[in-house]
Amino acid sequence: MNDSTSPGALPEEFAQRLQQIIPCERFADCWKSFTRPMATSFRINSLRGRTEDVAAELTRAGFDLLPLAWNADAFSVPDDQRRALTESAACTEGRIYIQNPSSMIPPFALDPQPGEEVLDLAAAPGGKTLHMAALMKNRGRIGAVEVVRNRFFRLRSTLERGNAQIVQTYMKDGTRVWRQCPERFDRVLLDAPCSGEGLFQIDQPQSFAYWGKKKRAEMVRKQRRLLYSAVRSLKPGGTLVYSTCTFAPEENEAVVQHALEQFGDALAVRDIELHLDAMQPGLSEWQGAAFCPPLRAARRIVPNGVMEGFFICKLYKRESTRDM
Ligand code: SAM
Repeated sequence: MNDSTSPGALPEEFAQRLQQIIPCERFADCWKSFTRPMATSFRINSLRGRTEDVAAELTRAGFDLLPLAWNADAFSVPDDQRRALTESAACTEGRIYIQNPSSMIPPFALDPQPGEEVLDLAAAPGGKTLHMAALMKNRGRIGAVEVVRNRFFRLRSTLERGNAQIVQTYMKDGTRVWRQCPERFDRVLLDAPCSGEGLFQIDQPQSFAYWGKKKRAEMVRKQRRLLYSAVRSLKPGGTLVYSTCTFAPEENEAVVQHALEQFGDALAVRDIELHLDAMQPGLSEWQGAAFCPPLRAARRIVPNGVMEGFFICKLYKRESTRDM
């Protein structure tokens, strides 16, 4: 780990774990992502404007837009245009939402439909809630839950700025939602709190200051409880997406495997119908322990200079869990 692109200050144990997680031919690009700013990506918010109009507005303002191949509403600009983009009227007035492309995948995989009732169980700052409201064309209902007070207010301001009219926000602990709303929702997104390894930056030591076994264990406890709540809040026949922005298998495949064991035949893993070069299947084992084969259908995003590290797993609820 000592060539010129090595983020030497990242914990050595992190480097060793990552070598066991990331395929060796992708490892160098993955390392670079901790040392270099990513291109700045954004999604045009169809609840505030048409893609062609907003793209033309930004081009007139001097931004160099590069379209994203798999999402007609998404673009990137060179990183030196990030600040100007953040300060642009399109951004401050909610016509665009700055967001890494990896964050656009969980709503895409969940595929919420107009008229449905959807739960976003860990919602702030609200980029994915807003995306789901746009996919639903502001028809139906989204319940968006966030437990941390200042983040809750950020969520509200994202939704207001973005004209998401179908969202009811709740400052609540998501682990309790299932008690009030058992089997209520057509779809549930759990974009879980995590150790955030996909966002580590060598020049921002606070991004990995708390990294380690203890933090991981704390996150796993939260993730398991939130996923339990998500499954119990979901209607039979409903779809759930579990995602994190971390590499740790303990917080990804192992959390989903725990839910599969808890709920037995009631829960199944589904394919994600998006095939990108940055995607890898879920791991088949970690540190000698095998994961169940259906978890290969989960998707890991390996950083490639545009996309950040992410984990996404789509689940289907086959039958009721009321009597469990
Ligand atoms: N989905 C969000 C987005 O795209 O903007 C990002 C969500 S972030 C990864 C996870 C969020 O879960 C954090 O805002 C965190 O405060 C919140 N959270 C943590 N524990 C929670 C709980 N028990 N109930 C609800 N939210 C929780």
